[in-house]
Amino acid sequence: MIPDTEICIIGAGLSGLALAAALRADGRDVTVLEARDHPGGRVLSQNGHDLGPSWIWPHNRRMLALLDRLGLRSFPQHTTGRLVFEDAQGAIRRDLDFATMGGALRVAGGLARITDALAAGLGDDLRLSHQVSYVAQDATGVTVTAQGQTIRAAQLVLALPPRLAAQLGVSVPDVPTWMAGQAKLVATYPAPFWRAKGLNGDAISHRGPLAEIHDASPDDAATGALFGFAHPGAARALGFRDAAVAQLTRLFGPDAGLPTEVFVKDWSTDFATATPADQTPPTGHPSYRPIPPSARITFAGTEAAPQDGGFLEGALAAADAAYANLDRVSHQM
Ligand SMILES: Cc1cc2nc3c(=O)[nH]c(=O)nc-3n(C[C@H](O)[C@H](O)[C@H](O)COP(=O)(O)OP(=O)(O)OC[C@H]3O[C@@H](n4cnc5c(N)ncnc54)[C@H](O)[C@@H]3O)c2cc1C
Repeated sequence: MIPDTEICIIGAGLSGLALAAALRADGRDVTVLEARDHPGGRVLSQNGHDLGPSWIWPHNRRMLALLDRLGLRSFPQHTTGRLVFEDAQGAIRRDLDFATMGGALRVAGGLARITDALAAGLGDDLRLSHQVSYVAQDATGVTVTAQGQTIRAAQLVLALPPRLAAQLGVSVPDVPTWMAGQAKLVATYPAPFWRAKGLNGDAISHRGPLAEIHDASPDDAATGALFGFAHPGAARALGFRDAAVAQLTRLFGPDAGLPTEVFVKDWSTDFATATPADQTPPTGHPSYRPIPPSARITFAGTEAAPQDGGFLEGALAAADAAYANLDRVSHQM
């Protein structure tokens, strides 16, 4: 039984968690309902390896301030060395002195250290494994239905992709969920052996199954890791994992054929991220904009961000905008 609350937030991704932490710091009564059995949403790290987002950038001032506040550290994406290019026929070049993610930063220990820390601060106000199926607003508040229970709240925040909010009976614009059609594979190794060959770990392949590969080794390079984004739909094919390791072996040499561990995350089949409309990723970056609030419902989530929509920084910008709206509403009451 979940008690009534002043503000109910649906979604414990970065946006919902950051908003809940800010509201709690003001002494507001908040309950966060999360469908998964873990917090973070699209932020997902396994054994410190990022299976969702990997990068932030030096202009992401909200993300950098949050890292500072949580006592976490960033480090530069490894880019020293040459890129490997494979064409559609399988011809391979290793002479390109180029890196695609120069200037990007990673978070030591994985990005989920951020969302785990925010979630830990919420204690019992975060309810995991509570998938919301319906929301209804009336003159005095909002009724939220989750796992057969109903919860009353004065204000509701939807901190989830708009396409998922639409499934709860809320009217929202149809905007693609950023990266929801993607799948990521991480292969770990005893050492980043490609660096000794003068390679930076970047690869672009028109043959696949991985389209774009990067060095994902820890900051101290005590072990090695490569990650790749799959060509759209490729991760759903039988034998994807073996085909990807065979591709890494073609591109980086025989050492790549002996990974210590292989992690695969196909976001396109994740019930709490993607809808059927997200199976085919958009060709460019969609233009995201804030979703106007109603009397009882405020939108957060990166797809409703006033700037940097789609990115982690946008998830925080949307949380800030939702915070400002809830503040405005509370002063009107
Ligand atoms: C593979 C990949 C790579 C990426 N790379 C980068 C990158 O390098 N840099 C970058 O800045 N961004 C990147 N992104 C985007 C980044 O992950 C997102 O911008 C950010 O995580 C979005 O946070 P959010 O809180 O807005 O949404 P989400 O993380 O999607 O959170 C929404 C939450 O709502 C929950 N939920 C959904 N439905 C329900 C329901 N019915 N009831 C209750 N809870 C529900 C979900 O489980 C989830 O926890 C990447 C994303 C992916 C998938």
